Amino acid sequence: MFAIKNYYMKPLPIHRRQLLKNLALALPAGMLMPSLLASCKKDEIEFSGKAIVIGAGAAGMYAAYLLNDYDIDVVVLEAAPVYGGRIRPLQGFSDFTIELGAEEVHGEKSLWYDIVTSLNKEFVNADDESFYFIDNQLKSETQLANDNDLNALYDLIDNIENYFGADKTIEQYLSDNNIAQRVSHIGNALLGNEYGTSNTRLGAAGVASSSRKWDAGDQNFMLKNAHYLAVLEEKFASILPKIQLNTQIKKIDYSGNQVMLTDQNGNTYTADKIIITVPLVILQNEEIEFVPALPQYKLSAINAIGMNAGMKIILKFSTTFWVANLGSVYGSGYVPEFWSTGLGRSSENNTLTAFVMGEKAEYLSSLGAGAVDIVVAELDQMYGAGVASGSLIASYIMDWSKEPFIKGAYSYQKVGTGNSRETLAQSIDDKIFFAGEATNTEGHEATVHGAIQTADTAVEELVSKE
Ligand SMILES: Cc1cc2nc3c(=O)[nH]c(=O)nc-3n(C[C@H](O)[C@H](O)[C@H](O)COP(=O)(O)OP(=O)(O)OC[C@H]3O[C@@H](n4cnc5c(N)ncnc54)[C@H](O)[C@@H]3O)c2cc1C
Repeated sequence: MFAIKNYYMKPLPIHRRQLLKNLALALPAGMLMPSLLASCKKDEIEFSGKAIVIGAGAAGMYAAYLLNDYDIDVVVLEAAPVYGGRIRPLQGFSDFTIELGAEEVHGEKSLWYDIVTSLNKEFVNADDESFYFIDNQLKSETQLANDNDLNALYDLIDNIENYFGADKTIEQYLSDNNIAQRVSHIGNALLGNEYGTSNTRLGAAGVASSSRKWDAGDQNFMLKNAHYLAVLEEKFASILPKIQLNTQIKKIDYSGNQVMLTDQNGNTYTADKIIITVPLVILQNEEIEFVPALPQYKLSAINAIGMNAGMKIILKFSTTFWVANLGSVYGSGYVPEFWSTGLGRSSENNTLTAFVMGEKAEYLSSLGAGAVDIVVAELDQMYGAGVASGSLIASYIMDWSKEPFIKGAYSYQKVGTGNSRETLAQSIDDKIFFAGEATNTEGHEATVHGAIQTADTAVEELVSKE
């Protein structure tokens, strides 16, 4: 058996699926509640002015929740007609709620895990098995247990935190470590694609650094009869009335004592301090005008971090042509990884998710609805001519690059990202604070718990001074 279980123990992070075994129900409510409010105690708060949070994703909602809990006057301005950001459910497609964005709770030592478990949500409890398309054949992890090339790849990934050398692409890193070409697409699925990009873009030093910092724990959890947005709504119910939707901030003027915000309709909003949680691409595209302009060091940091296109294509079939306990299928085409969407959650269990990031996502995105044909053809190639295409009954494309206020999947470590997240996270003039997954400096970028952690840090800093 190759080192797949070790692999799961590492941060390799994004939606890595080790379905929870032997723990059908979350820990009882209350057990973990103290860490929920990890920021200052109320009597340590120096700030009593008005705060505005820009963006109502996980980070923005948690920031507002904390500020509100400190009795600070706060509103959340959100560009989209919905809150949740990169947390979004798809209902009515199957007999369970499908997550179009974040899907797994990564690790059991995080505020997000505490929040989920405090609400007594049930986790999926199922054994799964992965399959790999190698040498034009689809084989199970059991069949490939003695495949030296695949084992060498997993060993290298398991030990990536020990890499302290020069920054280089992961593609180069695999090649320098003599990883066989016949498994390089698996390397792209397990690293580049997982991290929200491709091995040709992902930086080895950054991945190694994040791996060393990761302290959220080893297991991944999926909600069984609930979904992420419902968790946000339940936990942050107190701040839902404070979210103003359809309000895209176009300008932030922090030249005066107060901060003046202007939205797409010319409406203005004034606050003493603000927290910006918009996705990295929104900052990279300079879609918000800052007055005065952001300092050059800040702009350089923003552009030194990566964020690429990312898609989930959900496919529903009339027959399940895969094994009942399927976990992931690693292909060799445009879809680095498929997984069984409904395992442990659906009585029909007849949906697959195609998970595509980086340059492959850019290509599939350019095809629009035509991407489905390519994706299904890849399943036909692995499972037999006409097997998938002949039984497809519905599909849904979630293309995050086409979301007007998100424009990509999640941030990743480019070659040369270095300490840019630290710089991005720094506040300006004690008035402008930055949060959101891309600002995470603790190795938890690209996750929900990482986004929440940044909100906690930003709020703590915001309230520490008048
Ligand atoms: C396909 C996919 C799968 C994922 N899987 C997982 C997973 O399994 N587990 C996990 O932990 N994480 C996962 N993630 C990552 C996770 O979803 C994100 O890290 C997290 O949700 C980001 O939260 P955030 O608050 O930082 O940003 P967002 O959720 O993006 O929130 C930012 C908000 O800012 C708003 N905004 C943008 N511009 C403006 C403006 N000018 N004015 C006002 N508002 C604006 C946006 O509309 C958005 O609502 C996944 C992400 C994707 C895309």
